[in-house]
Amino acid sequence: MKTVKFGGSSLATAGQIRKVGDILAADGARRLVVVSAPGRRDAGDTKVTDLLIAAAEARLTHRSGEAELMVALKRFADLARGLELPDACLRGIEIDLRQRLTAETGDEDLYLDSMKAAGECNCARLVAEHLRSRGLEAHFIDPREAGLILSAEAGNARVLRQSYGNLRSLRDRSGITVFPGFYGYTESGRLVTFPRGGSDITGAILAAAVGAELYENFTDVDSVFAASPRLVPHPRPVGEITYREMRELSYAGFSVFHDEALEPVFHGGIPVAVKNTDNPEADGTLIVPDRSVEGAPVAGIAATGGFCTVYVSRYLMNREVGFGRRLLEVFEDEGIPYEHTPSGIDNLSVIVREEFFDHATEERVLRRVRTELVADEVSVERGLALVMVVGEGMRHTVGLAARTTGAFARSGINLEMINQGSSEVSMMFGVKEADMQTAVRSLYAEFFSD
Ligand code: ASP
Repeated sequence: MKTVKFGGSSLATAGQIRKVGDILAADGARRLVVVSAPGRRDAGDTKVTDLLIAAAEARLTHRSGEAELMVALKRFADLARGLELPDACLRGIEIDLRQRLTAETGDEDLYLDSMKAAGECNCARLVAEHLRSRGLEAHFIDPREAGLILSAEAGNARVLRQSYGNLRSLRDRSGITVFPGFYGYTESGRLVTFPRGGSDITGAILAAAVGAELYENFTDVDSVFAASPRLVPHPRPVGEITYREMRELSYAGFSVFHDEALEPVFHGGIPVAVKNTDNPEADGTLIVPDRSVEGAPVAGIAATGGFCTVYVSRYLMNREVGFGRRLLEVFEDEGIPYEHTPSGIDNLSVIVREEFFDHATEERVLRRVRTELVADEVSVERGLALVMVVGEGMRHTVGLAARTTGAFARSGINLEMINQGSSEVSMMFGVKEADMQTAVRSLYAEFFSD
């Protein structure tokens, strides 16, 4: 049995949904299908999830949200018409959207989650209807009925362990089961969503729960590339990559896969295939537990900006037991997740994402570090990008660090930070955001040019 997930671009038009039907009809093992909400039809378009959020936000600011809802409904109407589905299908969607929009808004976060989930829920119903209209046996299932139980964190939920046992019985259902991605229910029965892009997570949980032979993730690119096409022109495709490599690459900006999604399949040892709905015959990329690293120690190069460094120094810091804990406690109190903590003898830097560190937060943190920790010096540097060179066997290949820093030097890039050794599969470099593209291009030329 294979678990198959289709992303928003694969569901954006009736034509794309027909391709989804072709892909499912072509392989009888594709029996458990997870769908996103319809995505963008072209670059200027808006995702259905964002249309629904706009409607919810209108309602939460004391407007009706009706006009915004009509835009989302029109997307479903176009799909239903394009697929020649019975009128009752669209009427059902309209009733559902109206019920959600006019529901009570007492808990704003839960209200918003219910609206956000309407994209996946109705898309899954519509896809099941389309499959039936082609003569396939297909059934929609709601995550509540299936037992997908999540933590009570609206917009940021996590799966609870008992879900895996509950979901296992999806194996035994006949025909194709169409499961909406992105949301589940708390133990008390409230609808909650994963973080944005979370249908990947649903797919991975289901694949692990049913012990799928393969988790196929259909998207709009032929494969994962060795570097982002936004940074390097025509990067080479990656045929095979390990979970760990993929995790590190998605952390640093590879957006093909939601980085939280690999955990369940990783634990279940289930291979993941990234494939293209527009070109399903292409090999795609296979994400596996292990790969042979011979001749290819580097799997990919990734980079992402938006970080800042909080630099703290205090003479004889190394002799002071508990300094690191107390410093990180300040970040914990402020609810700021930290990413890395490179350290020296008398100094420690905390690298955080700028989105969690606005100027008011910065002021509070700096004041506390100065007064409570009696630091000699505290400063903040913004506009940092992290560049990662990722590959299994990295630590055991002589000369990789020299090649990397040599490539930076030839391009005149100043390294703000180096972090090597904590991870078995990556080297991480901090550079100024303005240097990020040059940095990635120089590394790509070093490791991937013929
Ligand atoms: N529709 C949701 C989003 O736009 C989830 C997903 O597509 O995976 O974030």
